[in-house]
Amino acid sequence: MKVCAISGDRKYLRLGATFDNSRWYTVTDKVKEIVATISRGDEVEVKAQQKDDGKLYLTEIKKTASAPVSSTSTSKHACEKCGKLLKDDSYPTCYNCSMKEKNSPENLDKEAKKQATIRRQAIGHMTSRALISLQGIVDVNNITSIAETLYKKFRTLVEEE
Ligand SMILES: [Zn+2]
Repeated sequence: MKVCAISGDRKYLRLGATFDNSRWYTVTDKVKEIVATISRGDEVEVKAQQKDDGKLYLTEIKKTASAPVSSTSTSKHACEKCGKLLKDDSYPTCYNCSMKEKNSPENLDKEAKKQATIRRQAIGHMTSRALISLQGIVDVNNITSIAETLYKKFRTLVEEE
């Protein structure tokens, strides 16, 4: 059987022919020391006992072949942040950690600033459009104060949304 995954605390091994065809085995004290020397991708022979709780308990384990060097050196099987085992190597962090990162104060701040910029641009756009439509109607000498008034008014309207 192949060692498809090892839990961060090394209390569980996932063993099987392929990952989809594998199961978690609970490491017992008997095999704890050998498990400490096992790497993901190793080939092992094991004996296990299924207990009443339905879990498989490893009672014996023997390494029959080491994992190919390339697969262990490039593997990113555990989440970089919390060490949780990942289903595939496509992402460096697990779903929870990547969500946490996305909602981090830093990113939320960035998002808020982006929104504020969009809002300011929209208000500026409304103001200039209004000024264009007022051309010839308003006194050119008052244009600055009109623009200011419009901008403030639009801002109030946008912020009330
Ligand atoms: Zn994680």
